[in-house]
Amino acid sequence: MSDLKLFNSLTRQLETFTPVHPGEARVYSCGPTVYNYQHIGNMRAYVFADTLGRVLSYKGYKLTHVINITDVGHLTSDADAGEDKMEKMAASQGKSAWDIAAYYQEDFERDLERLNIRKPAHPRATEYVDAMIEWGKSIADKHCYELASGLYFDVSTVPEYGRLARAVTDDGEGRIDEVEGKRNKADFAIWRKTPPGETRQMEWDSPWGRGAPGWHLECSVMSKALLGMPFDIHTGGIDHREIHHPNEIAQNQAHECSAETGARIWMHNNFLVERSGKMSKSSGEFLRLQLLVDKGFHPLAYRLMCLQAHYRSELEFSWEGLQAAFVRLKRMVMAVTALKARHAELVSASIVPNNPSVETERWTLKQVQGDVNVGSLSGRAAIFDTSIADDLNTAIALTSLEETIGLKTAGIAEKLQLIQGMDQVLGLNLLKLTRQDLRIRPQAATITEAEIEAALTQRKEARANKDFATSDRIRDELIAKGVEVMDGDPLDWDWKLDV
Ligand code: AMP
Ligand code: ZN
Repeated sequence: MSDLKLFNSLTRQLETFTPVHPGEARVYSCGPTVYNYQHIGNMRAYVFADTLGRVLSYKGYKLTHVINITDVGHLTSDADAGEDKMEKMAASQGKSAWDIAAYYQEDFERDLERLNIRKPAHPRATEYVDAMIEWGKSIADKHCYELASGLYFDVSTVPEYGRLARAVTDDGEGRIDEVEGKRNKADFAIWRKTPPGETRQMEWDSPWGRGAPGWHLECSVMSKALLGMPFDIHTGGIDHREIHHPNEIAQNQAHECSAETGARIWMHNNFLVERSGKMSKSSGEFLRLQLLVDKGFHPLAYRLMCLQAHYRSELEFSWEGLQAAFVRLKRMVMAVTALKARHAELVSASIVPNNPSVETERWTLKQVQGDVNVGSLSGRAAIFDTSIADDLNTAIALTSLEETIGLKTAGIAEKLQLIQGMDQVLGLNLLKLTRQDLRIRPQAATITEAEIEAALTQRKEARANKDFATSDRIRDELIAKGVEVMDGDPLDWDWKLDV
């Protein structure tokens, strides 16, 4: 198998993955702020982190993956200004901040499941406030100073602050809002005091007064508590490379009394972009996974759309692009369904033995050794392995999976086994999905699947009886309800609901 190479944002170079603890991979991904629904751009970050985790498992590492839940401390501005996101939403909905957090965390977990993201550990920031206060105490004397509004970290006290962001000029740091009395523009809050006369829903006592932790602190504290420090890989969206992660690094350096950053490799996914502003949580048709489902798309079509692009490239969202990804997913599912049916026939005719128990962990070790003839299963497995090990080149890995599905010369049981192994890395659930699962009913539809299938059976009978008037009438009625009848569709899909 090829060595796993990953792009490290710290060095801006590809590096061979060597674990801190032999045989293990420990990954921390910055998680959602649960003050609102996640948009599909946010979900791209978790599809990426999950794919990374799957690749590490496939490469044989025992994976520990943490995605934290930010339920306190995140302000409406990434610097230390603006309102607290949780408290603001709680006030606008007339609920408690705790209820808001619980509701949106549950929604986030549902989205993770629908995207076939393997269940990570997801601790909540509020469970770690005591540990955050301890961390603050341990760095306060040497690295922090107190102002009326809270305890601030002095970024000049650590080596090479901002190296990750390559922020060396004042201009680069100019985006950070000023707080009266800050020593450096980039200094950030470790603790924010509740202003005199105010009470917040989420506040704790600390040596610096009653208040709440600064947002950056939770990730340092939770990553060390759950993964140890240093750990292997820290991930997040590319926006975090600029402020949040440099601040985490500064906190880690201060706490560990070391120039090391806390994680060996820092990885960042690029953004999903949508030019008309629908990704904004305040827009009417806010682009969240549920909207895609309401429009009749299977959530895994979105996962596939993400995998078609390299995680370090921007990905432009369009409904046409999503539709194309959905058709591609359908094609794969239909082809795998046909393979499974053929395999079952052969088994029942005792032509092939029942599918040998699939040793998913070891599949490629077996397949990759040996020849690299591209026309063979082992050749396909080798291409898949090389591409996925090359900084997660999922676009080529996907093509290699499709070529495997289409390979005519291979035995069916072995082929299914290899498809299953590849799918375990890409997470498209190809062996379990059925045609029925992919038929998502658009919310605006006025006709049910059962009614469509019944009408199509009647139409088939009418055509068999050469009653073309009835057959045409049925088709026109279906069209009026948004159903497009697809005679002779190579995907064997028969109909499509367009509303
Ligand atoms: P937030 O809840 O804003 O902290 O974001 C959660 C995660 O989504 C972070 O890793 C962000 O960097 C990432 N993210 C935010 N917007 C996008 C986007 N449009 N595309 C990809 N990732 C994003
Ligand atoms: Zn974080």
